[in-house]
Amino acid sequence: MEKLEHIGIAVKNLKESNELFARLLGNAHYKIEEVPSEGVRTSFFELNGVKIELLEATNENSPIAKFIEKRGEGIHHLAFEVGDIKKSIQSYTDNGFLLLNTEPKPGADHKLIAFMHPKSANGVLVELCQEKR
Ligand code: ZN
Repeated sequence: MEKLEHIGIAVKNLKESNELFARLLGNAHYKIEEVPSEGVRTSFFELNGVKIELLEATNENSPIAKFIEKRGEGIHHLAFEVGDIKKSIQSYTDNGFLLLNTEPKPGADHKLIAFMHPKSANGVLVELCQEKR
């Protein structure tokens, strides 16, 4: 891992949460991006190099809809930047971590991403991400 890239937070209403987080952070979101393949609409805030990603479900089968149904709104994942996501997937798998994606997939914010099962990290959903190049 190179750094904590962002913290993902599941929200019910992106518009309301954008306003809330702008008041909380003293800083407006800098973009909204939809990721149809994941069934999410996201918005991003940045605070001194660390990003906050708010995630709203765009359909009821979205992983975010299921998360909120089960656990309510709140912290959904921690995303760590890696230099080479394919190598990282391989080496974490070799080291006994359970990856939910064996191939990188496109995520928001020009990233390739892969998720690690929460049971591999004390209940924390971990996202590996790499800048698309
Ligand atoms: Zn994320």
